[in-house]
Amino acid sequence: MLILKLSDKLFIIIHLRISGSLFLGKKEGRYARIIFKLSDGRWLQFCDGRVLGELRLVNDWRELPIVKTMGPEPLDLTRQGFVKLFTGKKTKIKPLLMDQAFIAGIGNIYAQEAVFCAGIHPQREANKLNAEDLVRLYNCLLKVLREGIKNKGTSADSYYQLDGSKGGNVPYLKVYQRDNQPCLKCKTPLKRIVVAGRGTTFCPHCQK
Ligand SMILES: [Zn+2]
Repeated sequence: MLILKLSDKLFIIIHLRISGSLFLGKKEGRYARIIFKLSDGRWLQFCDGRVLGELRLVNDWRELPIVKTMGPEPLDLTRQGFVKLFTGKKTKIKPLLMDQAFIAGIGNIYAQEAVFCAGIHPQREANKLNAEDLVRLYNCLLKVLREGIKNKGTSADSYYQLDGSKGGNVPYLKVYQRDNQPCLKCKTPLKRIVVAGRGTTFCPHCQK
């Protein structure tokens, strides 16, 4: 969720979903759906090819059902808070990481990268992981998210930066879309499976 504060009682709330992006430029961007003409002459544009994203003008973003049902923000969680959240959950770890009501903001790319970094099989049930595994996963999750932010996003699919250029994180991905290529830790060919309906690439040797 992107929260743009216009005043204390007026906010624009944006959820980009699968194909949305924000573009700041003086000519109309591809798939521009809503254009805000800014006082400095530039145009802030909400572009969305598949029209699955959401943009709302609201008085209080905290009251939106989508916000109320969302889990905690991972970069705000402490190590203890993360371990407590995941302990005893019977769901497989990768779909659990991607469950927005459980923990917010983690998509298919960063979930795969985090479990690879932590050496955890994407289909392991969370309740089979001990505190040490969960701490490792916490550190890895923060590492891959911070790396993605530092590199200005992963433009593997439809993500673009505000100026329309691609983010620089794809070369740093270790497993996502690297099916059959050698694992960067052990050289075993990476394998692709489907976990809870989503394609998942992992190392059968490093991830247990
Ligand atoms: Zn490996």
